[in-house]
Amino acid sequence: MENLNIGILGATGAVGQKFIRLLENHPWYTITTLGASKRSAGKKYKKAVHWVEKTELPSNIADITVSECDPALFKDVDFVFSGLDSSVAGEIEKDFATSGIPVISNAKNYRTHDQVPLLVPEINPDHTELIRQQSFTDDNSGWIVTNPNCVSVPLSTSLRPLDDAFGIHSLVVTSMQSTSGAGYPGVPSLDIVANVVPHIGGEEDKVQTEATKVLGHIEGNKMNIRNFPIQATAVRVPTIEGHLLSVSVKLKNPPAQLENVKEAFTAWKNPISQYELPSSPTRPIRLYETDRYPQPRLHAEREGGMQTAIGRLRKGTVMDLGYVTMAHNTIRGAAGGAILNSELLAAKGFFK
Ligand code: NAP
Repeated sequence: MENLNIGILGATGAVGQKFIRLLENHPWYTITTLGASKRSAGKKYKKAVHWVEKTELPSNIADITVSECDPALFKDVDFVFSGLDSSVAGEIEKDFATSGIPVISNAKNYRTHDQVPLLVPEINPDHTELIRQQSFTDDNSGWIVTNPNCVSVPLSTSLRPLDDAFGIHSLVVTSMQSTSGAGYPGVPSLDIVANVVPHIGGEEDKVQTEATKVLGHIEGNKMNIRNFPIQATAVRVPTIEGHLLSVSVKLKNPPAQLENVKEAFTAWKNPISQYELPSSPTRPIRLYETDRYPQPRLHAEREGGMQTAIGRLRKGTVMDLGYVTMAHNTIRGAAGGAILNSELLAAKGFFK
């Protein structure tokens, strides 16, 4: 793979910082341009950012001067990652795509558009074909790919083996979401220390719609979204990283034995393993049989934060099945997921 130059939009935010940390030693990519708001533009990155990552700010990044998010200032990049606030992502990402710069986005703005892939590489790698239907530029050089919300990533990942084996009929999910999911500075400490906040604005709508697109199928040129109902409750809890979900599922063809469900998870094969992408986890799904696992503090960073953990698998008394699932929200559910998306797209030759 030849080296690609990349830009990061929203580089000063929580997700932007995670991009910088995760890309520090990336074998294919060089970060050349960083973008943020007018508040940060013109400053050295080290002065503009409130660095909250556990590793040192890389020295080759610290002295880059932050730019405004104007495509004319990103001429040398092959594509950009976007960790922009959704209040501005819609317009800015469109400006980049229409200027012929591909955008790999974390923001919600284009996730539900018919021609925009809502990509989880191990779950719906064929959805990359939707890019060819986008019309931001005449020659298809500028396009947008999104990754799902940080709850929808572990939800759709854990549902894939179940849907393939038994068919999903409906489900109820409660997400216990860590504080880093609100960005920086995020939730006021007086709200969240030793407390639980039973509402996260706008979150439940995303959880109720995104997994049905991720698990959908492309037939001809059309994206067929699945139509099973999802009832979601999103709750903020005082963990720092890793969203834990409690899921109850009704299946179309429930198996006789719980053992069959375990087999569905353990026998599931990663459909993109042949690409050997740098950010691919060895095991995208890990089933824990110990009742106390998975836990955010112990397991969110397993496999570089790219693994989806499943545990507490049990027969249900109201629905067919209950389980918990968890993934690292700013890695698998945001920056790491977007990097893996870009690697799949690079391996498939989408960056001309
Ligand atoms: P954040 O910490 O608030 O960062 C927002 C970024 O957007 C900052 O770099 C900010 O730059 C920039 N920005 C704000 N207004 C701008 C403007 N007018 N023009 C250009 N840049 C502007 O948010 P975050 O948590 O990193 O989230 C970023 C995106 O990822 C959001 O769309 C969020 O929904 C999504 N996401 C977050 C998570 C998560 O777990 N945190 C997970 C999945 C998806 P300044 O520093 O200059 O203000």
